[in-house]
Amino acid sequence: NEDTQREALMAALEAVAERVEAEKGHLTDLDSAIGDADHGANLDRGFQAALEGADPEAAPDEFVKGVGMALVSKVGGASGPLYGGSLAHASTAFEGGIDAESSVAFAESYLEKTKDRGGASVGDKTMVDALTPAVHTYKRAIEEDEVAPLTALSRAVDAAERGVEFTTAIRANKGRASYLGWRSVGHPDPGATSTLYMLEELLGVASE
Ligand code: ADP
Ligand code: MG
Ligand code: MG
Repeated sequence: NEDTQREALMAALEAVAERVEAEKGHLTDLDSAIGDADHGANLDRGFQAALEGADPEAAPDEFVKGVGMALVSKVGGASGPLYGGSLAHASTAFEGGIDAESSVAFAESYLEKTKDRGGASVGDKTMVDALTPAVHTYKRAIEEDEVAPLTALSRAVDAAERGVEFTTAIRANKGRASYLGWRSVGHPDPGATSTLYMLEELLGVASE
């Protein structure tokens, strides 16, 4: 019911905010290798603001939209409009509540928005490289294998992890890391890494 969904969303936001805070230094280190050393600080600022502004009484779609808007206004950089704008956009998938079907619609809409806005495709060494296999795996697990959302999410996390490994091996074609050309090879992408952490936290909350 809606109370349970609201509680789960709040728990998810808290878990992600806590993880981002814990990984702030690590994400910044990753960004210092191929960017401008602010990814951890950007995300931490945004998720703290999202926590402060979160309305525990809001309906699921409004809650997610609020988190997205907070990220858009506080994260900044390339990742703020991508994370925040995609969340705010995809939030409408939850207008009728959260279930297996609407979660697939949410994931697809989130991925589409990220790709539209950033113009990156798989292989450009961005968050899209973690997100794309995660969303496709989630959708396939639910719609074709007909497994429970929790199992599907667990497979999606594994797919995102392989996506992050993939970013290490390739050269960046989008974002600040692309300025380095071939020197970007050998470093994992910070945004793909933070995407993986967020998915891991969603899985953790969903398992409870
Ligand atoms: P900035 O690069 O502006 O300092 P952040 O450090 O917060 O912003 O975020 C960097 C991350 O944003 C990258 O690691 C990458 O995953 C993601 N990113 C950058 N440009 C794009 C893009 N065009 N499309 C998708 N993701 C992108
Ligand atoms: Mg940066
Ligand atoms: Mg920056």
